Amino acid sequence: MSEHELRVSKIRDGTVIDHVEAGQALNVLAILGIDGAEGFGVSVGMNVPSDRLGRKDIVKVEDRELSQSEVDVLSLIAPEATINIVRDFEVVEKNRVTRPEGVTGVLSCPNRNCITNADEPIETRFDVVADGVRCDYCATILRSDIAEHIDV
Ligand SMILES: [Zn+2]
Repeated sequence: MSEHELRVSKIRDGTVIDHVEAGQALNVLAILGIDGAEGFGVSVGMNVPSDRLGRKDIVKVEDRELSQSEVDVLSLIAPEATINIVRDFEVVEKNRVTRPEGVTGVLSCPNRNCITNADEPIETRFDVVADGVRCDYCATILRSDIAEHIDV
């Protein structure tokens, strides 16, 4: 077992989000709605050496598994991420995230004139495109600032 795998399996139960693009760990926590007040054990590794990415971030959250919509949004800021489910110190499941075709109801549109920002009961919908996500209603494209527009 490599040193890397040892490091990943250190928590007893929970989720390890590995191969997160360096610099995105805090955005991952924002997506999961974790600010430390919930009482989950959280550890964050930043700028850890990685064969695949050069540098990467790792987020470990104890006693918490992720919903599909959380994984979908996560994939937008960390397309190379792997999600490891840990039970009793063992990685029981390991999945690469896949980019969804679109996300509904999780991002807010930065365009103030967009109909989704009017007082209408309209759920936001963004299509995933090569360089970001595109609002279905006004075609505004969100790129690196996706995490600032998460509205979960
Ligand atoms: Zn819009």
